[in-house]
Amino acid sequence: MGAVRRKLTRAGLSGLLVTHLPDLRYLSGFTGSSAALAVTRRSARLFTDGRYTAQAAAEVKSAQVEIVPRAPAACAVQWMAAQAGVEFAGFDPAWTSVAELSRLKEALPARLRRSFLVPVAAPLVEALRLVKDEDELRIMGEAALTGCRLFEHLLGFLKPGLMEIEVAAELEYQARLLGAEGMSFETIVASGPRSALPHGRATTARLPRRGFLTLDFGIIHDGYCSDMTRTVYFGTPRPKERNAYHAVLEAQESAVAAVGAGVSCGDVDEAARSVLRKAGLADAFTHSTGHGVGLEIHEAPRLGAGQTMRLQAGMVVTIEPGVYLPGEFGIRIEDMVAVTRDGGQVLTPAPKALIEL
Ligand code: ZN
Ligand code: ZN
Repeated sequence: MGAVRRKLTRAGLSGLLVTHLPDLRYLSGFTGSSAALAVTRRSARLFTDGRYTAQAAAEVKSAQVEIVPRAPAACAVQWMAAQAGVEFAGFDPAWTSVAELSRLKEALPARLRRSFLVPVAAPLVEALRLVKDEDELRIMGEAALTGCRLFEHLLGFLKPGLMEIEVAAELEYQARLLGAEGMSFETIVASGPRSALPHGRATTARLPRRGFLTLDFGIIHDGYCSDMTRTVYFGTPRPKERNAYHAVLEAQESAVAAVGAGVSCGDVDEAARSVLRKAGLADAFTHSTGHGVGLEIHEAPRLGAGQTMRLQAGMVVTIEPGVYLPGEFGIRIEDMVAVTRDGGQVLTPAPKALIEL
């Protein structure tokens, strides 16, 4: 809370409305699905409804809790407006719909409707979430290792003829048995020519006798997401397929090696992209090299071409170059990497050499 207050002061605000649930969880510990948090320079109050009375009392340490019948964000805004010394309150325009903003304004006294709520220029809380503390890094390391165990389990389960959705079902069932709260996004199981779809969700397509299979999945552990991708092969790869795999692997390892505090995100992206360019696969690499991960599966920073943000120790990012040849095949390899002062620590040490099943 102290860090967000310092940011508030620097932004010239006397209050902040937090409605994006991952931000709210980060600041207050509350894990429920309906709440709003009001932070002023002197105090903080979390508004939620009667379903969460016991849960909020148990989880929320850094704010007072007020149970309200409805519209927690409107209640939060009204409360801030009634506090002495609170002239302006920031809200995050990225997480506030036009309809919601007009409801919030209606909740204010008429004289404050025009001036009280101010969109923050840059997200205040997401900026704090960028750098993980020791507890967060430990939780994320555990989540990532669970992902690796799931991949190793799948290696004994996969065989040609299974449907992609059976693979996803097995993965998600085993994830639950290993303690996952849920999956961090819809599991990607893309086989054969479908592997050329970067976000090929599992379908009833059957695993081929010969061809690639891309698995991209993650679990949620203590609220934090894991994310990893491995691509395996059924049968014996053709030379073009083997060469493409080796190019992606080299690009991925080169970007992992580029990670370190002070390095720009664009430079990490270029480390991967330049390898694929040399292999003649630049046009087949159609997305950015990676993204931050934490309470959300995709968060800042973005590791893409030209991104000037510099990595800091404690950030956790993915490194996931891929190549996609429509109608033929696709390959992606993804690790989670924690940025350290002198490099990066890979949190997902599952094998990356081409596995032929
Ligand atoms: Zn992924
Ligand atoms: Zn990812």
